[in-house]
Amino acid sequence: MTRKCRCGKRIVIFRKYEGRGLCRYHFIRSVEEKAKKTISKYYSVGRNETIAVGVSGGKDSTALLLLLHRIFGKRTDIRMFAISIDEGIPGYRDESLQIAKKLCKKLGIKHHIFSFKEEFGKPLHEKVKNIRKKKEGGPCTYCGVGRRYLLNRKSRELGATRLALGMNLDDEIQGILMNYMRGDLIRLSRMGGHVVKDSLFVPRIKPFREIPEKEVGLYAFLNSLEIQEDECPLLEGPRFKVRDFLNELESESPGTKFSIIKSYDRLLPSLRKGMKTGGYMVDKCTKCREPTSSQKVCKTCELWNINQI
Ligand code: SF4
Ligand SMILES: [Zn+2]
Ligand SMILES: [Zn+2]
Repeated sequence: MTRKCRCGKRIVIFRKYEGRGLCRYHFIRSVEEKAKKTISKYYSVGRNETIAVGVSGGKDSTALLLLLHRIFGKRTDIRMFAISIDEGIPGYRDESLQIAKKLCKKLGIKHHIFSFKEEFGKPLHEKVKNIRKKKEGGPCTYCGVGRRYLLNRKSRELGATRLALGMNLDDEIQGILMNYMRGDLIRLSRMGGHVVKDSLFVPRIKPFREIPEKEVGLYAFLNSLEIQEDECPLLEGPRFKVRDFLNELESESPGTKFSIIKSYDRLLPSLRKGMKTGGYMVDKCTKCREPTSSQKVCKTCELWNINQI
């Protein structure tokens, strides 16, 4: 294995799946070029867009904010703001929000923060106090459902035409397998690139979709980004078993992760065609009037009883 990049400099990473090593400069450049390619391949970002960037303070979202600032920061026709959700996880989210705030200030990007407490009446830790491990789902279910809801609604209300999220290759393929395992074809069909069919749903952009988690972390590190490194104290669920399983497969057979996402992308058009809704949000929740794809009352109203607050 050569320890030199093609330019002769010392490598910072060896990509087994490509059979080559890259120096700091070429690694950063490669991540940015790949992300740009992903944006133009899967997501349309035209002129006069307003991009909301979901920022939690973790490595993926801080790296994303920096990357998008580098790609679009000089474009006068593109506006960008950051949006964070404070779910209410004591000793964890406060620190990560401070990190997000500092980075936004440094880059000169406007930052909006919305909390579960103000929007839903209760912080997450209080909400899940008595419902942990019951069959309606653990903390991550309440957290994910509420966060996705607020990110979409608040971004739209603030005028966003695109919502950028930091999901990396590992997140994407874990999500694909989890949805297969649960038999949730509706969510599975909504994971790829989005075509706008509903004015209430802000189309997602996921520039790191084809970049492994380890590389997003290295990109953040090599750019000296401050990040929240601790694990969430409420974390639970089968996702982490799936993560370990995929990592084992990848180390035995490099390239497996890319092959999973590529197969999914090839299946997606047929999958969407086969769904009654085409995989899009076509209905409005009868309580909150936000988009829902599968039921009369959306999952957020069901779990958080938001209309009763
Ligand atoms: S680990 Fe679960 S509870 Fe913690 S932030 Fe993530 S989704 Fe929310
Ligand atoms: Zn090099
Ligand atoms: Zn609703």
